Amino acid sequence: MRREKCFRFTLLLLVILLISEFSFPALAFAEESPLPEAVIEVPPPNRRLELYGEGELDWPCGVPFEDPGFAAYDSDGADRSGDVRVEGSPVVWRVGDYPILYLFSENDGEFAAARRIVHVVAQPLPEINEPPGGTICLTFDDGPSADTAYLLDILAKYNVKATFFIVANHSKNMDILPRIVAEGHTLGIHCYDHRSYEYLYKDMEHYCSDLLTAQKIVHDYTGHYAHVVRFPGDSRTASLLAGTLTGKYPELYDTLADMGIRAYDWNVQPESATKDTAGTLEQFTHPREPYEYAVVLQHDTRHFSVAAVEKMIQWALDQGYTFAALDETFPEIHFEE
Ligand SMILES: [Zn+2]
Repeated sequence: MRREKCFRFTLLLLVILLISEFSFPALAFAEESPLPEAVIEVPPPNRRLELYGEGELDWPCGVPFEDPGFAAYDSDGADRSGDVRVEGSPVVWRVGDYPILYLFSENDGEFAAARRIVHVVAQPLPEINEPPGGTICLTFDDGPSADTAYLLDILAKYNVKATFFIVANHSKNMDILPRIVAEGHTLGIHCYDHRSYEYLYKDMEHYCSDLLTAQKIVHDYTGHYAHVVRFPGDSRTASLLAGTLTGKYPELYDTLADMGIRAYDWNVQPESATKDTAGTLEQFTHPREPYEYAVVLQHDTRHFSVAAVEKMIQWALDQGYTFAALDETFPEIHFEE
């Protein structure tokens, strides 16, 4: 009996369905076509959290992160953007995918949340070009200083382009940075804070935070990020990152490459055995062998050294050398071993 009832009920249902399909074509039509948008649109609730910019975005490795922003409104529609809790931030010196969570909760325990994914992507690093024989790259560390403007005047007089590896926490002389860039020199980074090497090279995070702080300052002054660096100490000192003073620390160079950066030690050091102008000039103008590709270390914080530059340039031009500012296409020089 039960089976029969069940069968009858199913049959009845089928009949109703068939009738509705064939007798009410308007109903079938309504199911297949979407209603006009104006009808189904539901006004958003007042409590909401909106992200500005893309919910998923690519960010160049080595560029300090700036969140595109967000806005939050409570259930009364009041702006509560200042109460948003942001969890997570991209490690911009390490290629990878980083979620950022934005949370806004009200007294009633209800909340609005949004999530953004930041893909930190490697920057392109151009191929190396061998410079022509007899290229001299003058480089100046530890500035800018009170002597940097004078040095720029000398360089301009001979149309010589040079490279400045700056210490970015020199608040007094930083106004010269736009001039360095405008006159065609390369602005490179030495560091933000020339502090103890143990601190700077404690781990990648310490080194990269210092570098990124310097990058932000360089960008604030010039609108550009640096693509060449010189390690405080030298590349052997930077091997402290690996817990040793010898050997190259591959992660450091891979990380810099992801940022589109190359690092340069030097192969000519005219200040090395002297503390005066004549000695600096003497060393520079008496190389053991003619210069092929010379990366010359000087400091624009050393007055005696800056005072030697004009005569150094005159001598080199007389000898037929050419000057160039470094960029990331020049072969790297490292004392790693
Ligand atoms: Zn230095």
